[in-house]
Amino acid sequence: MDCLFCRIIAGEIPAKIIYQDEKVIALDDINPQAPCHKLIIPRNHIATLNDLSPIDHGLIGHMAQTAQKIAGELGIAEHGYRVVMNCNAGAGQTVFHIHLHLLGGRQMTWPPG
Ligand code: 5GP
Ligand code: ZN
Repeated sequence: MDCLFCRIIAGEIPAKIIYQDEKVIALDDINPQAPCHKLIIPRNHIATLNDLSPIDHGLIGHMAQTAQKIAGELGIAEHGYRVVMNCNAGAGQTVFHIHLHLLGGRQMTWPPG
């Protein structure tokens, strides 16, 4: 298994896991880009958003609900937060197992880089 996030999910690589359920895990990003930077990762390996099939559509909703829940618990929901999924290298994806970035705790700017 050469996927970093599959190895974290399997417990082979340590990570600061802040939430988990039967569909997803959420953890601290190792290189945070904001005071709050979490990754919400499905347990199933899906390489990119391009590889999503109709059967996975509920999973994306569950990932968004998980972001909402974590943002509320961390106290960043009222001020605001950003969720991002990079798709392929041209968008900055470096780990090819889909994940939602949850960023908050500072003022965000637009457009993103
Ligand atoms: P991407 O660039 O694919 O959208 O996001 C990958 C994210 O994974 C990056 O923000 C990067 O900092 C994070 N990351 C890379 N390696 C590790 C790791 O070993 N542990 C954790 N917790 N995050 C990682
Ligand atoms: Zn994987």
